[in-house]
Amino acid sequence: MRTVTHWIGGKPFGDASSPSGTWGPVTDPATGEVTTRVALAGAEEAGAAVAAAKAAYATWRTSPLTRRIAILFRYRALLDARRDDIAALITAEQGKVHADALAEVGRGLEIVELACGLGMALKGDTSTEVSSRVDVASIRQPLGVVVGVSPFNFPAMISMWMFPMAIACGNTFIHKPSSKAPSASILLAELAAEAGVPDGVLNILHGDEVAVNALLDHPDVAAVSFVGSTPVARHVYGRASASGKRVQALGGAKNHMLVLPDADLDAAADAAVAAAYGSAGQRCMAISVVVAVGAAGDALVSRITERAAKIKIGPGSDPASEMGPLVTRAHRDEVADYVAGAAAQGADVVLDGRGFTVEGLENGHWMGMSLLDKVRTDSDAYRNEIFGPVLCVVRAETYEEAVEIVNGCPYGNASAIFTRDGAAARRFQLEVETGMVGVNVPMPVPAGYHSFGGWKDSAFGDHRMYGSEAVHFYTRGKVITSLWPDPAETVTGVPASR
Ligand code: NAD
Repeated sequence: MRTVTHWIGGKPFGDASSPSGTWGPVTDPATGEVTTRVALAGAEEAGAAVAAAKAAYATWRTSPLTRRIAILFRYRALLDARRDDIAALITAEQGKVHADALAEVGRGLEIVELACGLGMALKGDTSTEVSSRVDVASIRQPLGVVVGVSPFNFPAMISMWMFPMAIACGNTFIHKPSSKAPSASILLAELAAEAGVPDGVLNILHGDEVAVNALLDHPDVAAVSFVGSTPVARHVYGRASASGKRVQALGGAKNHMLVLPDADLDAAADAAVAAAYGSAGQRCMAISVVVAVGAAGDALVSRITERAAKIKIGPGSDPASEMGPLVTRAHRDEVADYVAGAAAQGADVVLDGRGFTVEGLENGHWMGMSLLDKVRTDSDAYRNEIFGPVLCVVRAETYEEAVEIVNGCPYGNASAIFTRDGAAARRFQLEVETGMVGVNVPMPVPAGYHSFGGWKDSAFGDHRMYGSEAVHFYTRGKVITSLWPDPAETVTGVPASR
């Protein structure tokens, strides 16, 4: 069995022992076997991580921007060279297929590239002669020790949304990854050290809520970036902001795809299948509800059924697999329960994935594609985030009714519309209450130089992830007003005109 321990001050912490004495199991989702034990931090390890980050901040905050950027360029090259290794660790612990894991690393790299160009974003503004000989400069400075807490479903990408921008801005960072998939974060930290990130600037603390709460309560932590489920996002936002920390907390999702009858239904079905079942539905940008308007309904359901049945499910390490297992047995069983209860709550169960298994790997966390049609909006399958390969279809008579359904959902992460009608698409963009919108694009994950974040119960706090919003989140503004008198004109040093 492998052991994964914390990374503090530029090296493994605890010499393969867990100072708190607590370990958690990491399972290979394809076999169901525990392959690794991960150290779970208590207050002592959290304190050590904060102390290391605080000590490093003293010099990192004033290190030249050119140096920080040179390190990030080296880091980008090392990550690029090790894409396969990072992806393999993701597949082994999270379960997603290798191609999907590689795509995850690619999306994370986008943010490292963004951080490489941070010089432009960090330059301030100056106004000269706002009054006689008075200049005003606005600058942005780092916050200090920043914490990032991330979920299991993107073990590399979500931490790469956070720490490259945070450290490029001059902060030091403690990443608390999900203990279900902890190994990729250690490789990311090792490569950062190889690229020249000084000891203590990037630290990895493994653990569960004990570790998170110790960081949220620590007086030397200035800010917290969180991504995970809505109940935990709400908790993190409340607890950290109560002690005066800056917080951004992204939560869960229930993303709707509205399909109008004039849409290209083949393209819409392809998109729905890829966005609902890709990564076994364990994506915050997954489409979990299709709202089919009028005549689109029956035609779409038959096309989705035909396509979904062809998806090849198997271990993520097998290049022939298009969809892998779910992360844990418990999560797989929760997902299956929603399908089990759907018919009694009024849905037509068109595809039922509960019986699926892979020969020879019967202990893996397998679940086939499930498709629930005519789902009621008061049913459990509609109201809750299922986070598995279960697609709900809700029927609506008109565009107006469909938008009302989307906007009635408490989650507001992303939505999409499929149509050939530009006016309807434009109306949807303006009327829908989600933070990200796709037009004939099912998963509108914004490019790195824009920003990522939802509305309503999908995000707490004012700042979105990456893009220029990350610069605002990871720095604070300062405005300097200066007066330099001309000694030739005054005796006292204060110009006579003032
Ligand atoms: P989770 O909320 O269970 O865990 C997220 C992180 O919080 C983990 O590091 C975990 O160790 C920690 N944690 C768990 N319980 C805690 C508690 N009570 N107190 C403090 N910390 C706690 O989420 P998950 O199951 O790992 O990930 C799936 C969820 O993440 C889904 O809801 C998904 O929609 C969401 N997600 C959202 C986005 C987004 O950008 N909005 C992106 C990816 C995933």
